[in-house]
Amino acid sequence: MTLKQRRDEEAALRRQAAACSLCSSLAESRIQVVFGGGEIDADVMFVGEAPGATEDRDGVPFAGASGRLLNELLSEIGLSRETVYIANVLKCRPPDNRDPRREEVANCAHFLERQVELVEPIVLVTLGNYATKALRGEDGGITAIHGKPEQRRVGARSLWLLPVFHPAAALYRRSNLELLKSDFAEIPRLVAEGTPEQPRSPESAVIEKPPVVQSEPSDEPPQLDLF
Ligand code: SF4
Repeated sequence: MTLKQRRDEEAALRRQAAACSLCSSLAESRIQVVFGGGEIDADVMFVGEAPGATEDRDGVPFAGASGRLLNELLSEIGLSRETVYIANVLKCRPPDNRDPRREEVANCAHFLERQVELVEPIVLVTLGNYATKALRGEDGGITAIHGKPEQRRVGARSLWLLPVFHPAAALYRRSNLELLKSDFAEIPRLVAEGTPEQPRSPESAVIEKPPVVQSEPSDEPPQLDLF
């Protein structure tokens, strides 16, 4: 696909999501669908869990304090919001910060999968436990696997999947900040390595088996014990 075709299809997908009401309760409670966005030709794509209250209000992912920290982390490795693509597993805010439900994640998976195929990232960074489990399609706590890149496939795209802590984890537990910085330092190295030819890890990382995990800490009420 040409760059223009990718941009046009992403815009069409965004319009489709904006009118989506597959999850009827989320469609009723949301202010807006938070589709995500950024550079369609980005080498690096970030995926979080779901919009919080600030994201639901502003319409962009990682809009609050976590987002400001994400911006700083990007800047330290020579990237910015304008040069990466950012999305969430779930495009609508679960009310009261509750966990996304399995059927909601399943309903929404095709949007994210197509976003990945259109962006064609070399590195897909999963931010936090929830997104990591959703994209890996298997259990494995973020504490054990953060910063360890894996060759994976999402939809038709072969890529490096890099699990890192959610930025909120560093806001509420500063010792995680150094871990996050160290894990982010892996990103340029993986970009330089280029797209992996074939995934070495077992299954493709299509989101077929939504995880059952606790939500990440958000910018709203601090949840100190999740990490
Ligand atoms: S979460 Fe996804 S699938 Fe569910 S209503 Fe929102 S856009 Fe549609």
